[in-house]
Amino acid sequence: MAAWNKGVVIEQRQWSPVLHSLYIESPIEPFQAGQFVKIGLEVEGKVIGRPYSLCNAPEIRPLEIYYIEVPGGELTSQLVKLQAGDELLVAPRANGFMVLDEVPPAPHLWLMATGTGVGPFLSILDTAAPWQRFERVVLVYAVRTLAELSYRERIAALQAKHGAQFVFVPFVSREETGFALGGRVPQAIADGRLESRTGLALSAAQSQVMLCGNPQMIEDTMQQLMQRGMKKHRRKEPGQITVEHYW
Ligand SMILES: Cc1cc2nc3c(=O)[nH]c(=O)nc-3n(C[C@H](O)[C@H](O)[C@H](O)COP(=O)(O)OP(=O)(O)OC[C@H]3O[C@@H](n4cnc5c(N)ncnc54)[C@H](O)[C@@H]3O)c2cc1C
Repeated sequence: MAAWNKGVVIEQRQWSPVLHSLYIESPIEPFQAGQFVKIGLEVEGKVIGRPYSLCNAPEIRPLEIYYIEVPGGELTSQLVKLQAGDELLVAPRANGFMVLDEVPPAPHLWLMATGTGVGPFLSILDTAAPWQRFERVVLVYAVRTLAELSYRERIAALQAKHGAQFVFVPFVSREETGFALGGRVPQAIADGRLESRTGLALSAAQSQVMLCGNPQMIEDTMQQLMQRGMKKHRRKEPGQITVEHYW
């Protein structure tokens, strides 16, 4: 199998000075919602490749990634320059285990993301599986400022489609918004604000939690969940917490 397929940029959408979505036309093998694909660019004769979660549901095209321009970042400093019609490299196959097939049954599914970590959850939420398998689906999406709360229209469409089965909890840590929770997710689990906002208990018996994004958020949130008797899910040792680290 070739290491790369050719991709063509359909659109580059800029949400904030550093947040972007890239829409890409490229062949890809069938994949599962929540998986990531390697994206590459040839820079000065060398190919730089990095993994990115796919935000589009598996049957939807074009491919979509949501990324942040990392200061001095080798690849992202080049990705931001791409425009419609430009070419890039896309791995032929997506990978990753942060998929619903790996998540055991429970009444409630909690998807907790910081920043760009919302990407794989957008893909999952646009499939039928979470709505068929879980009584309630909670999306916790934490950012620093309101301008960083991308994809609000897509989330509003989910709210309109799924009604009370879908619970959306935005967190904005550095601004008062009137609708989002303030502070950080682990702290809101510790002090009970997240449960009182959703009306749902976070417990080993009732919850499956998927975490994606900032490593500190993942670490601190896992600590809080483990204090409630939850543990990391492994195939051989089922638990309640499924994690994807971006760095
Ligand atoms: C499985 C997986 C999926 C990923 N999916 C995404 C995705 O959907 N969107 C995305 O933006 N990134 C994602 N990443 C991170 C991505 O692969 C790159 O590391 C990132 O884009 C930086 O690449 P770079 O070459 O510009 O920076 P580099 O020069 O490689 O610098 C890497 C540094 O950038 C910082 N960094 C990396 N990713 C982020 C991030 N998302 N937010 C803030 N700081 C970051 C960290 O400090 C890291 O040490 C994913 C990583 C993994 C392992």
